[in-house]
Amino acid sequence: MKVGIYTLGCKVNAYESEYVVDLLKENGYEILPFTEVCDIYIINTCSVTNTSDAKSRKMIHQAMRRNPDACIVAMGCFIEANKKAEMEGVDILIGNRDKSKIVSLIEEYFKTKKQIKNLYDDLGTEFEDMEIHSFGNKTRAFVKIQDGCENFCTYCIIPFVRGKCRSKKPELVLREITSLVNHGYQEIVLTGIHTGNYGVDLGTDFASLLKEILEIPNLYRLRISSIEETELNDSVLELLKNPIIANHLHIPLQSGSREIMKAMNRKYTKEEYLKKIETIRKIRPDISISTDVIVGFPGETEEMFQESYQFCQEIGFSKIHVFPYSKRNGTAAAHFPNQVAETIKKERVKKLTDLSNTLEKNYMEKFLGRKMEVLIERSDSSYSIGHTSNFLLVKVPGTFEQEEKILVSLSEIQYPYCLGTVSCESEKKQETLVTNG
Ligand code: SF4
Repeated sequence: MKVGIYTLGCKVNAYESEYVVDLLKENGYEILPFTEVCDIYIINTCSVTNTSDAKSRKMIHQAMRRNPDACIVAMGCFIEANKKAEMEGVDILIGNRDKSKIVSLIEEYFKTKKQIKNLYDDLGTEFEDMEIHSFGNKTRAFVKIQDGCENFCTYCIIPFVRGKCRSKKPELVLREITSLVNHGYQEIVLTGIHTGNYGVDLGTDFASLLKEILEIPNLYRLRISSIEETELNDSVLELLKNPIIANHLHIPLQSGSREIMKAMNRKYTKEEYLKKIETIRKIRPDISISTDVIVGFPGETEEMFQESYQFCQEIGFSKIHVFPYSKRNGTAAAHFPNQVAETIKKERVKKLTDLSNTLEKNYMEKFLGRKMEVLIERSDSSYSIGHTSNFLLVKVPGTFEQEEKILVSLSEIQYPYCLGTVSCESEKKQETLVTNG
């Protein structure tokens, strides 16, 4: 049977979809693009904002229209957040537990042709084991090591749809990464709902796991998808001295206003956040530090927004992912007074995004004239593209193999790329490549 899968949201969802694709292939299903007419459509949904809810609904309806006879499977956060909803036309509903049982649920559906609601009141405390051996034809592979969050930031729906913190056993993580590295993956991205909280349920911690992963032979680059300021403790900072760890950290700030930070129930103060960034930059002076910031949180006055804006400027992030506050039913902030008007949110998103673009260009300019190692992700007949360890997107003339590492002299910015020329060492390698065809 032909299956089309569409994935919304975060790296954890992308990983879970990759696992589901592996499972389906192992059981003889044919995977086609979601845009094709299929017998089964799977939508791995997201519910982090109102927009992701709307998009989840849209993709479900798109599948229904594409083939009204198809079996529609909807899973993930949007389903978890709307467990009581009818979801007419959806044949199999899976929340954030039992995605690994998708094959048996599909078989059951085709026996009964009755809607299956595989939903739980409690997502449990066990990590749902999944293990991938490939990650599409990509250069970098995401590895999910953790699920759930118990921080309850007042704007966030995640703890309600992803449940308690659950971690994958270290030996399974090591086996999975070793297998991916042996399959040629040069870069591994550790991901989770609350990655830095890894191990709290297993009596271990993120630093211990990192230490073991860094000993895996032939691992070229290890990237941490996102980590909270509070989880960058001394043991993790010590490991930052290992160059295998990518020279880029994504550390959500959410707001640079003291009052809003408190109202969000964030777990650090401005001073602590700033001090941590300074400590990291002592270890890695050139590190790229990106972040997430919400604007228009209930009660955010123009002064508080200015305070947040200036704090971001002071930190000098390499990129700011800016989000307008999105009211989520079930969260504490949904009931806060002084909800901010959409027009004001739009203005603040524009201002902070403009700042982010300026800061990003400033950061890219720091590396012009330098030689940087680039891991090639794709190439066409004339150019090759890849990322540096500090996540600069680099474009070079020439056709290099995917996964090849080349030394590039960065010469100019053609946003979003840093353009560069290949250093002579890599050129020699390319000539042999071209002559050998
Ligand atoms: S740390 Fe806060 S923002 Fe992040 S998933 Fe948990 S509750 Fe949501």
